[in-house]
Parts: sequence; structure tokens; C-alpha cells
Amino acid sequence: MQKDLDFRVSPQQASDPDSLKKIFSAQAGVSVNDITSMRILRRSIDARQRNIVVNLRIRGYINEEQQEPAFQSTYYPNVGNAPSAIVVGAGPAGLFAALRLIELGIRPVVVERGKNVRDRKRDTALMNREHLVNPESNYCFGEGGAGAYSDGKLYTRSKKRGNVDKILNVFCQHGADASILVDAHPHIGTDKLPGIIEKMRVQIIHSGGEVHFQTRMDKLIIEDGEVKGIETNTGQIFHGQVILATGHSARDVYYMLHEQDVAIEAKGLAVGFRVEHSAHLIDQIQYHNEQGRGDYLPAAEYSFVVQAGDRGVYSFCMCPGGTIVPSASGPRQVVVNGMSASNRGARWSNSGVVVEIHPEDFPEYAKYGELSLLKFVEDIEEQAWIHGGKTQVAPAQRMYDFVNGRKSNSLPPTSYAPGVISSPLHEWMPRFVVSRLQEAFRKVGKNYKGYLTNEAVLIAVESRTSSPVRIVRDRETLQHPQIKGLFPCGEGAGYAGGIVSAAMDGERCAEALSGYLSAYTQ
Ligand SMILES: Cc1cc2nc3c(=O)[nH]c(=O)nc-3n(C[C@H](O)[C@H](O)[C@H](O)COP(=O)(O)OP(=O)(O)OC[C@H]3O[C@@H](n4cnc5c(N)ncnc54)[C@H](O)[C@@H]3O)c2cc1C
Repeated sequence: MQKDLDFRVSPQQASDPDSLKKIFSAQAGVSVNDITSMRILRRSIDARQRNIVVNLRIRGYINEEQQEPAFQSTYYPNVGNAPSAIVVGAGPAGLFAALRLIELGIRPVVVERGKNVRDRKRDTALMNREHLVNPESNYCFGEGGAGAYSDGKLYTRSKKRGNVDKILNVFCQHGADASILVDAHPHIGTDKLPGIIEKMRVQIIHSGGEVHFQTRMDKLIIEDGEVKGIETNTGQIFHGQVILATGHSARDVYYMLHEQDVAIEAKGLAVGFRVEHSAHLIDQIQYHNEQGRGDYLPAAEYSFVVQAGDRGVYSFCMCPGGTIVPSASGPRQVVVNGMSASNRGARWSNSGVVVEIHPEDFPEYAKYGELSLLKFVEDIEEQAWIHGGKTQVAPAQRMYDFVNGRKSNSLPPTSYAPGVISSPLHEWMPRFVVSRLQEAFRKVGKNYKGYLTNEAVLIAVESRTSSPVRIVRDRETLQHPQIKGLFPCGEGAGYAGGIVSAAMDGERCAEALSGYLSAYTQ
């Protein structure tokens, strides 16, 4: 017999299988000896009150062996002789599109400008140590895309756009811990992601697909309103329909589309800073305890949305126990983002804190039309480079100093490896952004006592929260309305905002392409 029961237990009890067994046996009214095994189905931490509770749903197997697999496997057939399609970009959208194409009997040919996920690591290390930005291989470009060296948070609000469970199960099939199927806020960690991404590539090749690294799409081949393939920087030409999953950092792709008269439109996004506190301070605030997280709780998360003037200001991509990383993808840029390892054990906790902006907020950029916010973002990233060290050293300011409009005399130690330099962010960041962030930090400081402190540092600039451009597509067919066989996909096209939503969009585009091919060949 199986029984599913809900519990509210202490963090210590939640971490001890023997305690859980006793609690389960008492509630189920069965002897401990009759419980053959137990499986946690759901886990979340309720830290709203001083008394922290872990909510668990547990399935107990009573006088019965547990037979269910830890995750659902997907079958990938051999598609070596099947019709092929091109996937440009091996980020989450591209990789999941390729895997879904295989499921649907189509041979994916993946074209990725960056290096494989292991070799890429050398380039990110060079960025941290020597401030060298390789424009083809960095924290944004290369196998695994922007999701590879990240926190690997797999939480998404866009549940209606696809099957989140399917995505999580595919991650497990390629090596992710099955706890991601259980946790309310699952995450993988940057130490585990590369191995998982590598296994996905092996699966694609094993099934008969192709993966071409260091191969950048430079042009779409379009004839009579239909995409026929792509030209690349290696001189290789690939023929077929195209899933365009190039991410929001591939600005050359937007310029190329614009030049090729492929319709795109300006889109709103959010900009601000990475905010870093000590992990201990965030633990103290969130767990209402001077001692911090103790032995049984993970590094604490936080998230907020506040209204500042007419705009929302919100925390973004919080990395508890994580580090801040340089996420530029070209020269004369300083861009920051966050990542963390699976144990979230670093001394710091960071989060983006960003203000929503719309194209009409910056009329001085209107002359750039569809590319207006792209130009705006390029400009503030360059400002961050100028006010930093004209290297990957980032401009920074203590939080309280920023709110009160004064330059910091010194800066606290940070996790950002290339280093920081004191800069009056309130003076050179756009007023529209500064005033709203100042208001928001004051409000958040009232709700979270201790958050607004000069021990916290703001590092500029968090500018890649989503794409500043949308590559338009038909809602039903997911094709570009002017160009048959072109499927704009993922975050770069404006249809996703994180790893899971990009992966789901990849799957949807693969399904749409499969439908298109079936109609085409009939
Ligand atoms: C440091 C960091 C941490 C993050 N942490 C998280 C997190 O914890 N959770 C979360 O949900 N999201 C996180 N994100 C955001 C997340 O990574 C993105 O939302 C997601 O990767 C978008 O997926 P995508 O496939 O659409 O695009 P991308 O991941 O950007 O992938 C696009 C790929 O296309 C390739 N490409 C670009 N142009 C070309 C071309 N012309 N030819 C060939 N290939 C090309 C690029 O090299 C890249 O590999 C993080 C991002 C960063 C930078």
C-alpha cells in the first residue's frame, strides 16, 4: 500500500530520515517496521514566522517495495536518416529544441558560435583573472548558453507556456539530482550544470544529430519569403528550416536581422545593479535569527517587488551563497550577473535589483526605432566600463551611500573576482533608474530590517534581464510572419526569461517546426 501525507516539521526533522519515518508512522497509524521506504514528493521552507517550518509531502510504501523510477525518461530514437532542421544556439532553448526534434523524428543540426562547455571555462577564467573578453566564448556564449555558468535556478512563473515537469525530468535524465522534482525552488548549481549539458550534447549526437561549435551564423538565406538555411563564419552553409535560439546577448544577430529587413520590434526590459550582502546577514533577516541559518537550513533566498513611482522595481535572479560574475560579451562593456554552486556555500548572497523600463521612457533613443532599448543598454554597459577600470573592474557603491547620493569612501570585500572601484552610480546611471532604485531600497529596508545597509554593495550594471528586442512570430505557427520556416525562439527572441521558460519555448518551436515539415512534405 502507498500513502501520501503532508507534514510540517522542523528543519532538523526534515533532514533526518529516521525522524521522518517515525512521524510518518504515527500519522499513518502503521508500525515503523511496516514502512518499506519513503519518498519525498514536495518540499518547501516556510520562513514567514520565527519558528521555521519545512512543509513536506511524503509518499510512504507500506509493506510494498518502491517501484516508481526517480524520474520519467524520454525515449530518443535514432534520427540519422531523418529529415533535418537547423538549431542556431546551444543555450537551454536550442538544446531542448534539438532534443524535442529528435523525439519527433527530425535530425537536429545545432550550430553554436562558442566553444564546448568545458573549453569555455578557460575563457571565463581569463575574464575573471586577466579581464580578457572573448566575444565568442564567455558567460553568455558557448555550449549551454547563458544558463551554463549560472545558479541553475529552475523556478519559473510561466507555467502555462509548457510542461515544466517534462523539462525537469529531462534534466534528471541527463544527470541532475532528482531533488529538483521535489523542491519548491529547485536549482542545480554551476558545478553540476556543465556535466548535464555535456550529456545532452552526447545524446543529440548519439541519436544522429550534429553539433557544430565555434560556428557562428552570420546570415539567414532567405528566398521568396522562405528561409532556406544559414551562412556561417566558417564558410559552411547549412540548408533547412531554422530555429533561431541565439539568446539576448547576440546583438549582432539583431543588427543582422534589421539589415536583412526581418521584422523585429523594441521591447521593454529592466535594468539596475547586482546587490551583494553577506550570506549571513540575509540568513539572519530571512530566518529571523541572530545565529543565521544554523545547521539544517540552506542559504536564505529573498525576493521582492515594490512600486517606485510609476514602475515596478524587483529583485531578479537571486543567488543565495553565490558569487557575482562578469557577463560582458564584447569590448567596452561591463555587465554583471550571479551564479552559485549546488551547495550555495559562498560567503555572499547577491541578487539583481532592477527597474522596469519601456522604450518610451527614453525619447532620446527613439531615433533608433526597433533598436532603441538595445542602444540604450549598449550605452549604459559602456558607461559602466568607463566608470569602472576600463577593464572588467566594475563600478560600485555602498547601498546606503547610493540611497543618500554620496560616493563611497571605501568598499566592502565582494565576490566579484575582477574587482570593483568606487563610483558615484547615482550620478551617471540614468536618473529614471536611479530615483526609482533609491525609493525602492528605502521601502525594502523598512520591510526587511537590516537590508538597507552600507555593508551591502551595488555593482553596475545589471542590464541583461531580458531581450531589448522581440523577433516577431505568429502566435499559432510560431513562425516569423514574413519568413516561412523561421522559428524565433527563447529569450533572445523575446519569448522566455530564464532557463526553464527558454527550454519550454525550445520544445514548442520544435513541435511547431515538426508541424510545418509535415505540412510541407504532404
Ligand atoms: C550568469 C548568469 C546566471 C543566470 N542564472 C540563471 C538562473 O539561475 N536561472 C534562470 O532561469 N536563468 C538564469 N540566467 C538566465 C538564463 O541563463 C537565460 O534566460 C537562458 O539561458 C536563455 O536561454 P536561451 O537558450 O534563450 O539563450 P542563451 O542561453 O543566451 O543561449 C543562446 C546561445 O546562442 C549562441 N549564439 C548566439 N549567437 C549565435 C550565432 N550567430 N550563431 C550561433 N550561435 C549563436 C550563444 O553562444 C548561446 O550559446 C542566468 C544568466 C546568466 C548570464
